Amino acid sequence: MQITEKMVVTLNYTLKDDDGNVIDSAQDGSFTYLHGAANIIPGLENALIGKGEGDSLSVTIEPEEGYGERNDSMTQVVSRDLFEGDEEITVGMQFHAESPDGQPMTVSVAHIEGDDVTIDGNHPLAGVRLNFDVNVVGIREASAEEMEHGHVHGPDGHHH
Ligand SMILES: [Zn+2]
Repeated sequence: MQITEKMVVTLNYTLKDDDGNVIDSAQDGSFTYLHGAANIIPGLENALIGKGEGDSLSVTIEPEEGYGERNDSMTQVVSRDLFEGDEEITVGMQFHAESPDGQPMTVSVAHIEGDDVTIDGNHPLAGVRLNFDVNVVGIREASAEEMEHGHVHGPDGHHH
């Protein structure tokens, strides 16, 4: 069986940046995705087409095929007063927000100086070259329900 549209694929992988730092990893067969449904970044999805169970590959993905280039206009300085509650604001904290066109987005705190908080709406991996070592652990056909939903359901069926 080969990876193509409408297949549910299980991968073990390690993701590193160009300095060799591990950004993300799944080695226990717990990562599955529906191929052809934009569940994963385009560069990785394309590299996996035609691969079979047991295949290994190393692939380097440029930002435009990954999480996009950084966009400095998505960074802005806001007043600390804007943050509700009395939770302490720290660098690296993430918040759910709405983009100017109403799309849900995640912003993170990039910098704090006095009452000025710099928030960044870029994906944390925007502008980063991604180096994947991937092993294809399993491939199966997607169910009709999974195809309709555009994502994988767990072994016990529906999880949402
Ligand atoms: Zn579903």
